[in-house]
Amino acid sequence: MQSKKSFASVDYEICNPKRCNPNEGMCAAVSACSHKVIIQIDGFFEPPIVFQDMCMGCWDCIEACQLDAIKMKHLS
Ligand code: SF4
Ligand code: SF4
Repeated sequence: MQSKKSFASVDYEICNPKRCNPNEGMCAAVSACSHKVIIQIDGFFEPPIVFQDMCMGCWDCIEACQLDAIKMKHLS
């Protein structure tokens, strides 16, 4: 049986922290990730990155993003 890996992936064509949180620039998906593997590494008002190797594929970030800028990807 093949093991399947799922991980969150940010669509940088859509992601825009200046739009989803114009006042603070904080990414709601970062706050939602209890595993701390999606981070605004360049600071507020900058898009987050996902450490995909450590992503648990739990969907919490996807549900938190108001702009639908995060998709789940699957590797087999
Ligand atoms: S991933 Fe979603 S919530 Fe996070 S900064 Fe981008 S648009 Fe905003
Ligand atoms: S899918 Fe879960 S573990 Fe992966 S970045 Fe999103 S919230 Fe974090």
